[in-house]
Amino acid sequence: MSLLLPANVSAYIEKLNFNTNNIYYQLSPEDLHHITIEKGMGKEASSGALAVNTGEFTGRSPMDRFIVKDDMTKDKVWWGNINIPFESDKFDALYDKVIAYLNKKELYVRDSYACADPDYKLNIRIINEYPWSNMFAHNMFLRPTEEELEEFDPEWTVVNAPGFMADPKVDGTRQHNFAILNFSRKIALIGGTGYTGEIKKGIFSALNFILPVYRNTLPMHCSANVGESGDTAIFFGLSGTGKTTLSTDPNRRLIGDDEHGWTPDNTVFNFEGGCYAKVIDLSKNKEPEIYGAIKKGAILENVVMDDNRIVDFSDTSITQNTRVSYPIHHIENIQQPSIGKNVKNIFFLTADAFGVLPPISKLTPAQAAYHFISGYTAKVAGTEAGVVEPQPSFSACFGAPFMPLHPAKYAEMLSKKMKESGVDVWLVNTGWTGGPYGVGTRMKLKYTRAMISAALSGELGLYNYEKYHIHSVFGVAQPRECPGVPTKVLSPRATWNDDEAYYRTAFKLTNAFRENFKKFEEHASEEIRRGGPQRYAF
Ligand code: ATP
Ligand code: MN
Repeated sequence: MSLLLPANVSAYIEKLNFNTNNIYYQLSPEDLHHITIEKGMGKEASSGALAVNTGEFTGRSPMDRFIVKDDMTKDKVWWGNINIPFESDKFDALYDKVIAYLNKKELYVRDSYACADPDYKLNIRIINEYPWSNMFAHNMFLRPTEEELEEFDPEWTVVNAPGFMADPKVDGTRQHNFAILNFSRKIALIGGTGYTGEIKKGIFSALNFILPVYRNTLPMHCSANVGESGDTAIFFGLSGTGKTTLSTDPNRRLIGDDEHGWTPDNTVFNFEGGCYAKVIDLSKNKEPEIYGAIKKGAILENVVMDDNRIVDFSDTSITQNTRVSYPIHHIENIQQPSIGKNVKNIFFLTADAFGVLPPISKLTPAQAAYHFISGYTAKVAGTEAGVVEPQPSFSACFGAPFMPLHPAKYAEMLSKKMKESGVDVWLVNTGWTGGPYGVGTRMKLKYTRAMISAALSGELGLYNYEKYHIHSVFGVAQPRECPGVPTKVLSPRATWNDDEAYYRTAFKLTNAFRENFKKFEEHASEEIRRGGPQRYAF
């Protein structure tokens, strides 16, 4: 291990006002693993993976995510409570304070890049206070070759200071933690939180601005994989709906599990070089690929281990959001480089805790646009006894917290792409069946996988209308049969055994859809508006 910085890196770091005496540059994941353990910041799990606790924050903090409002962004960003403006002067002052803080620490600097398509390569220099955060950057971003490092010219910088606490009154933040994007200075400044997801989602948010504005490329919060015949499938969905789980399919090559771009040449490329999987209730049996990826080189976050350092994946005592990050090559069947052509199928994943949406249905182009703008999933009720009412949750483009532009911009681009490529679009409910949360059960992963395989192989008999039923409330085409899935499971109403209760709950959901869509109505054509649910009450 050496403190010697290559001259180009050192000059750059000095320009950023860092003092260069305490910097570990481009350490291997092995070194970072060991340093983390030596410093008492982590432990090695029995699988060989590094296990860390991220501290106060075990998830992102969307209310503390800001964008600097200046000439570059003021007329382009969709300002509001998702994209919260931050003053340029305040940023400069806070940045200086963070650097002064970091200058008293040992730092870990790493050069990486985002975007697997060489035409889009975005070089990133990441500066971390903690060794394990730097290892996360190694796992999640793309890794330059030795040769590429020699003439590495960073474009964006991520400054990550989990131990720095802002003073909201002076610094202009909401509270002590913050994640701020500055497009003019090309800096993502993160402080007061050790949650690693802020690092990857910071760069994701930056690309979600850069690609549509300057490259006519659609950024997507989705996973993607490619089949034997070279057909690409993409899976949109909010957190917990199954992007990572369902794209990790032993029969298809994984492109990526979370962030992709769709180019004017109709290719889909991964922004990242790794995956960030939820591990709550992970089982070797049901998800062997992800289970197997948890080995030396992977980082487990906020899991609980016993005395033999065996992880209890069912333990939620630190958080429900336990995670593992690993470089994509920890999965066996991957597409290299992470680029797919020929997009044939799009899946919108939703975890409907009302249990009323069909487990799989086919959408018309107007319905697809409607559901993309709506971005529906549901949050299950808290764990308090007796509370069984799910909450609908809408997030435009299935990723509003990461989208700096107005959702209509992304929706327009997707509609255009869907038309050009003639894709089939499916709505998949990975949530509840047989009743709402508290009464019914989560759809079996085995069934969801079978439905997706049948959609991908064409077995759902798409063009034979007799094999479909148009849902009387949602208007979507629900297949009557699917190989590997009991017929009854395909009809949510049938699984409830109580028609009245089913329709009452379905209307509760359609009303929530209608209420949410109001804010987008002026941007949506008549056709798209008619893509919504068909009925709202008895
Ligand atoms: P994020 O954006 O936060 O990364 P994600 O969309 O990638 O979220 P996953 O990590 O795939 O979501 O989480 C889905 C979770 O739901 C997993 O823990 C998975 O085991 C569980 N699950 C249970 N039943 C199903 C199902 N039928 N389909 C998909 N996932 C299921
Ligand atoms: Mn995921």
